[in-house]
Amino acid sequence: MRMVDLIEKKRNQEAHTEEEIKTIIEGVTNQTIPDYQISAWLMAVYFQGMTKKEAFYLTKAMLESGDQIDLSEIKGIKVDKHSTGGVGDKTTLVLAPLIATLSGKMAKLSGRGLGHTGGTLDKLESIQGFNVGLEKQAFIDQVNDIGCAVAGQTAKIAPADKILYALRDVTGTVPSIPLIASSIMAKKLASGADVIVLDVKVGDGAFMKTIEEAKKLAELMVSIGQDYGKKVVALLTNMHEPLGMAVGNKLEVLEAIDTLKGGGPKDFKGLIIELASAILVLSDIEPNLEIAKDLVINTLESQKAYQTFKAMVKRQSGNIDAFLTKKVIEKTILNAEDEGFIKSINALDVGLKAMHLGAGRKTIEDNIDHEVGIRVLVKTGDRIKVGEPLLEIYHHENQVIDLNEYSPMIKISKEEVAAPKLVLQTIGI
Ligand code: URA
Repeated sequence: MRMVDLIEKKRNQEAHTEEEIKTIIEGVTNQTIPDYQISAWLMAVYFQGMTKKEAFYLTKAMLESGDQIDLSEIKGIKVDKHSTGGVGDKTTLVLAPLIATLSGKMAKLSGRGLGHTGGTLDKLESIQGFNVGLEKQAFIDQVNDIGCAVAGQTAKIAPADKILYALRDVTGTVPSIPLIASSIMAKKLASGADVIVLDVKVGDGAFMKTIEEAKKLAELMVSIGQDYGKKVVALLTNMHEPLGMAVGNKLEVLEAIDTLKGGGPKDFKGLIIELASAILVLSDIEPNLEIAKDLVINTLESQKAYQTFKAMVKRQSGNIDAFLTKKVIEKTILNAEDEGFIKSINALDVGLKAMHLGAGRKTIEDNIDHEVGIRVLVKTGDRIKVGEPLLEIYHHENQVIDLNEYSPMIKISKEEVAAPKLVLQTIGI
């Protein structure tokens, strides 16, 4: 099979066989296909798309290109969650201990942040001493003992995806629904969970800009997972504004802790309730969705999930007392110059500004500053008065903050603005 024939086949809108896709992915993994031919094929897929069957074969080939994690030693229902990336998304920090408290098992492999989106490992490392480098057995033992663990990926999961993603990133072929679906699902399926919950973000700060595109992506991922015998649900959620208030590592952990204690911003808490109750239903821990929601709310309010979080931090060598007592750095406040209603808060701009402060990486080699970040004090639809605080910018004394760079991120309207819905649709239950 010559690669040029396979490129032409896709260019001519024909569907690949399983064998053909396997050949391509083997050639990508072994690096026997040159980048220019892989790139041409990716562009052909971008324009011509893939059938459901092809996307399944692509996922399978990528999954089989690397290691698959065996979680069979973990007793109970193993749950995994994936978010397509957002600004202020600290969901895993709450969901893992919450699900563990409700008798699910969350063995979570997470990543680091790049660009405007943060990474769960970076956030957890803002807790002094927190160790994300667990060996496999320590990881499994921890999940069996306390129900959850969050660690960095050590096994070589879906190496073909790494190569393809790097090429997609520089050839304008990232936003292709079958390529995104197979990239995400290959990694999720390799991580060994029984139940997978997908948080598909929609909006300016996300890959999928419209609900129609997000729905197609979610349906494809759910169907790939179900074909693999997994229980999968996808929530389409709004990413037109940052999730919660905090953007930046330490600030986000503090917000997660508030939420684990029954407080936290309304939108973030709402998302946690939706995701956690969907997990409880899919896992048969509580089959009735409304009862599952009550259970989640009661568990947060009882602070039992916070106790599990503290147990996880301690087990992974983190010092929660040092984290909570360390002095918070300087803050500069942006106040409203007009009265009216919040029309929009640009999630992408907030994420980029936080990155430039030092909360995120411009390139993979950059170091993170765990302390800096932004807290967005308002939400779309809020009524505000002149002088009311809109943003808190957390920075070091030597960082000069020009508020004129921050004010365009928030638009104010004289007319009333409806508060946007956070969960737009649920697919799979
Ligand atoms: N996240 C992934 O892991 N892969 C994609 O293709 C897009 C987002």
